[in-house]
Amino acid sequence: MTGPARVVIVGAGLAGLRTAEELRARGYTGAVTLIGAEARLPYDRPPLSKKVLTGEIDDTGLRPDLDSLGIDLRLAETAVDLGDGVLRTTATDYPWDALVLATGANPVTLPGDGEQLVLRTVDDALALRERLTPGTRLAVVGAGWIGAELATAAARRGCAVTVVEAGQAPLAAAVGAEVGSQTAPWYAEAGVDLRLRTAVAAIEPGGIALADGGWLPAELVVTAVGVRPAVSWLDGSGLRLDNGVVVDAGLAASVPGVYAVGDCASFWSSRYQRQLRVEHWDVALHSPEVAAANIAGGRERYDPVPYFWSEQFSRMVQYVGWHGAADQIVWRGRPTAAKWAACWLAAGRLVAALTVGLPRDLLQARRLIQAGAAVDASALADPGVAIRDCARE
Ligand SMILES: Cc1cc2nc3c(=O)[nH]c(=O)nc-3n(C[C@H](O)[C@H](O)[C@H](O)COP(=O)(O)OP(=O)(O)OC[C@H]3O[C@@H](n4cnc5c(N)ncnc54)[C@H](O)[C@@H]3O)c2cc1C
Repeated sequence: MTGPARVVIVGAGLAGLRTAEELRARGYTGAVTLIGAEARLPYDRPPLSKKVLTGEIDDTGLRPDLDSLGIDLRLAETAVDLGDGVLRTTATDYPWDALVLATGANPVTLPGDGEQLVLRTVDDALALRERLTPGTRLAVVGAGWIGAELATAAARRGCAVTVVEAGQAPLAAAVGAEVGSQTAPWYAEAGVDLRLRTAVAAIEPGGIALADGGWLPAELVVTAVGVRPAVSWLDGSGLRLDNGVVVDAGLAASVPGVYAVGDCASFWSSRYQRQLRVEHWDVALHSPEVAAANIAGGRERYDPVPYFWSEQFSRMVQYVGWHGAADQIVWRGRPTAAKWAACWLAAGRLVAALTVGLPRDLLQARRLIQAGAAVDASALADPGVAIRDCARE
């Protein structure tokens, strides 16, 4: 494989490591430097809010084969500036011929002088777990994916958990209030106090000041209201930034030789005809394949159907697709049942699906979504009919 002499990758998470692995898998023999702000070897984040918090596991390391990768790995080093073909870090300067940005995202925090924890790193998870002791009054701000998983683990560890959510339903930002509201009863079932339409004014010592003037006492507050792409250090670099590093369908940024992958990349989706930034593990896993191929002179496009899973309140929840353009929701089974699905249609075509406890439905829906298939909505509403059989000829 041909390619530039020196590839520098910033961010040693899943997307950064995968980029190095994909370069080598494609026969790239030039120099690869992988720079990560964390002191740890690359590790996986999804288990942090699941088995790490419940205490089932401690180590989520990705266990890269560093000897065969032959990369220059620089840990505990943060990139601080990019200009004139040189990347500056807290330790030194790196010239590069191709540069891959894989810096992920940082949790958003709220105003106030009180202690607020976040959950992004393994150190965050281990420190939080220590404090999830029986009877601890825990307040979680945000009923999104992470808030729900955290509430699940904390309730299991015997904490008294309250979740405050400004929106009208859990997961509303991700899947809309109509579908998200079907998950609200799961909180009560697990003994978690879910307070919807409750905005936070500030995190204060001893609790949360609510926007309506109320006060929620708490011994421990975790803020889980979303993340922002970790790209502020690139301000003034000349790179186009807009909700992340703006890249084209081949993951190339506005400056030649620069690419972005994973959570920090806002890529052009030919499928949806818009920029997409997807904070999901699947994107961190696969987008590096395309960046590595194109660094080597290829012309590949990254055009995924987004996929995500979450384990909450003893349920496996999976989502595939993008429902932004949907005009109809078809329910498959009753949402009060243990297993059900919501399917989004746009002009009669299946565009997204959320499944609860139905991994086979998810797989079949994924194929129909990928194919852009028109579906028979009444067949789709019948859980006895396999999703693959709902495609119209
Ligand atoms: C608790 C938790 C649970 C999750 N659960 C799921 C799930 O169930 N399903 C799912 O699909 N997704 C899940 N995700 C999302 C998934 O983990 C992310 O999409 C994925 O980690 C993104 O990988 P990344 O490599 O792009 O970014 P990251 O994993 O964030 O890695 C980026 C790395 O870059 C480093 N970095 C940042 N700035 C700099 C800099 N200037 N210089 C050097 N290094 C820098 C960071 O320290 C970090 O180590 C979860 C995320 C979290 C936090």
